[in-house]
Amino acid sequence: MLNSKHIDQLRRIVGKENILTSKEELLVYSYDATNMWQHLPEVVVLPSNVEQISAILKLANENLIPVTPRGGGTNVSGGSIPIKGGIVLCTTRMDRIIDINKTNLNARVEPGVVLQDFQAALAEEGLFFPPDPQSFSGCTMGGVVAENSAGPSCLKYGVAKQYVLGLEVVLADGTTMKLGGLTPKNRTGYELSMLFTGSEGTLGVISKITLRMLPAPKATRTIVAVISDVAVAGETVTEIIASSVLPSKVEFVDNWTFEKFRGLLPDEILDKSQVILLIQVDGLPETVDAETQQVVALCKSRAGEVRVAEDQAETDRYWQARAAHFSDISSRAHTIINEDICVPRDKIAEFIKLGQESAKKYDVPISFAGHVGDGNFHPVVLTDSRDKEHYQRSLKCVEEIIEIALSLGGVLSGEHGIGLEKQRFLKKAMDPAAIEIMKKIKDVLDPNHILNPGKIWEETSDEE
Ligand SMILES: Cc1cc2nc3c(=O)[nH]c(=O)nc-3n(C[C@H](O)[C@H](O)[C@H](O)COP(=O)(O)OP(=O)(O)OC[C@H]3O[C@@H](n4cnc5c(N)ncnc54)[C@H](O)[C@@H]3O)c2cc1C
Repeated sequence: MLNSKHIDQLRRIVGKENILTSKEELLVYSYDATNMWQHLPEVVVLPSNVEQISAILKLANENLIPVTPRGGGTNVSGGSIPIKGGIVLCTTRMDRIIDINKTNLNARVEPGVVLQDFQAALAEEGLFFPPDPQSFSGCTMGGVVAENSAGPSCLKYGVAKQYVLGLEVVLADGTTMKLGGLTPKNRTGYELSMLFTGSEGTLGVISKITLRMLPAPKATRTIVAVISDVAVAGETVTEIIASSVLPSKVEFVDNWTFEKFRGLLPDEILDKSQVILLIQVDGLPETVDAETQQVVALCKSRAGEVRVAEDQAETDRYWQARAAHFSDISSRAHTIINEDICVPRDKIAEFIKLGQESAKKYDVPISFAGHVGDGNFHPVVLTDSRDKEHYQRSLKCVEEIIEIALSLGGVLSGEHGIGLEKQRFLKKAMDPAAIEIMKKIKDVLDPNHILNPGKIWEETSDEE
């Protein structure tokens, strides 16, 4: 248990300006971006360097105090909720881009660097880090690696793990460990940096990250297709992916959030349509022209309207409207349940059809959006947790949608992770032997289970 003596020790480690203890301050760190959980930490510490992280963890381990690592707190799986109280270790004051090396095509960052700042710094060098969670203005690089985050551009370029070259990690007992290196190839022992990538703060605190970069594409073009029927939109995506074009992004927005596109697309078409597909192709200008024509031709047979953005201003408006989806849909109900599943691409249309039938059966409103080019959907059920009966029906619908995704060969989470949200489904989605191995890894790295306790396989009761 944390007591005042521990708080004094923490104050000595990070300095009094880097520790938060008032109720108002703690409240801020009791949430993430879900609206399903909240739990107050007892203290928040904001370390400035790896030595401080190490000292905090050593103290916590010796006194069995839970520690929840946190970056921007934008995750949507309950991952950074300090569900067992204790310490929130927030990395936002470690926000230095250490270097960007154009020759080596790599960069080193501290975990608290905000993704948008990193992307802006890279753009000045003509470089590109593709993973682009739509929370880019708030999420941190530590969070991106700890969640193995993705986003629209991952269709062509892959997810965060494909860019991690090396990590510095602090283990639960305070030991600091350097993994990987600066080179794109490295076959030295087990690939331990992958163990921490996507580990959701349960195995160690990431204190430094080395990432692989790409040269920024020379040209991009955005194509917008407005389609009257959800299932037809799904078929269109399957067909685009099966053609020889690999767009950098294929995003799906349903009519719950069409308001954001008013003024950009004709009202009469929007009024009788269900889906907007936002597609981006990139590469050399000549290739981009040819691929744009090919995608437009594929969409034309099925869409009421197909537009190619004429300039950067128009392009930005479409992508800003897409990025606003989560906040827009969140404002339409007291409570939303935001899911994250991924199905094989040839099952996209079937998944949407079955998902809609499920929402009808449970009589709950549902919105479908997501990175559909990867088969990655974020079905959002709109509900109200104060209305117990509606909320229970919504949870049942979500459960059925997850079952549908799994039965189609899909996975439990495409990019948001397990956290608190998905742990009750883990046994259905993962081989029991693999769950046992994960538990053993945890026991080796964090024998006292102080790091982000209650997450992934450690089922937490609903009352907490
Ligand atoms: C509007 C919106 C849009 C989103 N869009 C996407 C999307 O397109 N794709 C996507 O993949 N996700 C998306 N997300 C989810 C989320 O933003 C990402 O998972 C993001 O990378 C989390 O970063 P963060 O800094 O906010 O991490 P946090 O939320 O603070 O933490 C996330 C997890 O990582 C752990 N963690 C954080 N920092 C460290 C560290 N230094 N060491 C060890 N563990 C750590 C935490 O304990 C927690 O388990 C979205 C969220 C929102 C709200």
